[in-house]
Amino acid sequence: MTSVVYALMSEDGFVKVDGCDLCRAKKLTSWFHEDDVCWIAECEICEVPMVVWRWHGVAPPAEHVAHMRERLGEVATAQLGEHYVDGHMRNIPDHYHAHARPKGGFFGSDAKRR
Ligand SMILES: [Zn+2]
Ligand SMILES: [Zn+2]
Repeated sequence: MTSVVYALMSEDGFVKVDGCDLCRAKKLTSWFHEDDVCWIAECEICEVPMVVWRWHGVAPPAEHVAHMRERLGEVATAQLGEHYVDGHMRNIPDHYHAHARPKGGFFGSDAKRR
């Protein structure tokens, strides 16, 4: 199960993994924010702002989570207005990220009906 190669480990024991799309942090879409803890970009699939932890794993420390929620909140308010944070990691379940989705889902109402 642990066939992953750790590409990088920080002093705190945080890791980045080779072959993980979120660790690679490719700029496929427009980026709204980046810092030492996280980056925020438009999700390729959902077309909403998505915050991604800089490090691989699903359990960031509480202060990182708080930081990410705050930054995502700022970006999402600017981009979407009213929104909620969707922490469900559908596509990449082993790397922490969260989507901000418009409240009421008016954005995706057509997609939902299909
Ligand atoms: Zn998405
Ligand atoms: Zn990763």
